[in-house]
Amino acid sequence: MLNKFAKWLLFGYFIYAALVVFYFLAINDSSNLPEIYRGSAADPHTFMNDRQLELTYEYSKIRHIIFFLLTPFDWILYLTILSIGLSAKFRQWAESSSKYSFFQKAIYVFWLSFVSFIILLPIDFFTYQLSKSYGISTSTFAIWMKDQLIDFWLDYIFLLLLAIVVFQLIRKNEKRWWFYAWIISIPFTIFLMFIQPVIIDPLYNDFYPLKNKDLEEKILDLASQANIPAEHVYEVNMSEKTNALNAYVTGIGRNSRIVLWDTTLSKLSDDEVLFIMAHEIAHYVKKHIYAGIAAYLIISLFGLYIASKIYNWSIKKHWRTLKINSLNDIASLPLLLVIISFLTFASSPLSNSFSRYLEHSADVYAIEMTKDKDAAIRSFQKLTIAGLSEVNPPAIVKWLRYTHPTMLERLIFIENYEVEKEK
Ligand SMILES: [Zn+2]
Repeated sequence: MLNKFAKWLLFGYFIYAALVVFYFLAINDSSNLPEIYRGSAADPHTFMNDRQLELTYEYSKIRHIIFFLLTPFDWILYLTILSIGLSAKFRQWAESSSKYSFFQKAIYVFWLSFVSFIILLPIDFFTYQLSKSYGISTSTFAIWMKDQLIDFWLDYIFLLLLAIVVFQLIRKNEKRWWFYAWIISIPFTIFLMFIQPVIIDPLYNDFYPLKNKDLEEKILDLASQANIPAEHVYEVNMSEKTNALNAYVTGIGRNSRIVLWDTTLSKLSDDEVLFIMAHEIAHYVKKHIYAGIAAYLIISLFGLYIASKIYNWSIKKHWRTLKINSLNDIASLPLLLVIISFLTFASSPLSNSFSRYLEHSADVYAIEMTKDKDAAIRSFQKLTIAGLSEVNPPAIVKWLRYTHPTMLERLIFIENYEVEKEK
């Protein structure tokens, strides 16, 4: 059943997988903290017990291995679906089920999404179980499955929209479709950011005003110092899903809001929560969401241009191997997804370093606003313990995955920060 191309793909993947496992198990030692940081606030030995240190060490290694194994897995999966003719089969089924182009696309995208969902489900289940066994995830199977199904249908809708728009544009203009796709993505991205907190996020969790009234008063007081009205501050019930701590800013315009996980509110002391809140206020006040959208649009302009070049080239050269009839053949959707996913991955060091820059500026704002170094250090340390996170991850992991500075960087920055005393 597998042709030569698919066999080479799988063979290459196994070699790569073996190297990844070997690297993280035998070579990399991320528990090593540079000598100069021993005994500092960033040294995990000063705030974690032996058990926590050991679990963090193990869990981080496993997480890195899973990340590096899964990233190319999607690409291999889609290329295999193409080269063994499965994608062409989906197109045939779609064409024989309906004569309307819309329904053909809807049926094709359903089959593609469904087959990838079924193949990836056991892997997702394994990572969920793993997270549970390390005491991070607290989801029941029912909650976890519900989230998987919401993911499936949301992804389905977005993929169908993408397929309809992109193939229509390719049909109209084989050379410039990428540019028109980018133009259309601008209002769409802004619209999505606008509805995210009120339509999409509530599908997964409940959002409500802060429950702890004493704490609420302090938080809203801090928010009002930055001219943020109370109706923009929310709590979300994450404790039914995780033990980890978090807070974030989301949405644009009148839907912009600061969201605090209930785990953060219950596991941190008030002064620690206020430091986290000040960090989120910084994102809100400095309008980092808009900076993020702008950066995303710039990167995606270049990305779509490169994607169109690779797409047109691969189909002209390799249509036989990939079993694709033409540039606007719906069966080429997996190819488009591989290219987009690969370019997103390739650009992640750039987008992550931009994000780390914004996060650092939020830390600076927060420590200037609260002037409470102790609380800041304790909150970062508790965040590290709750997520069993490494203080000093391998550099490659930092480039590819870290949207925030590492805890080593954040803790050392705060520890060395000179707070100006108020007169
Ligand atoms: Zn932040």
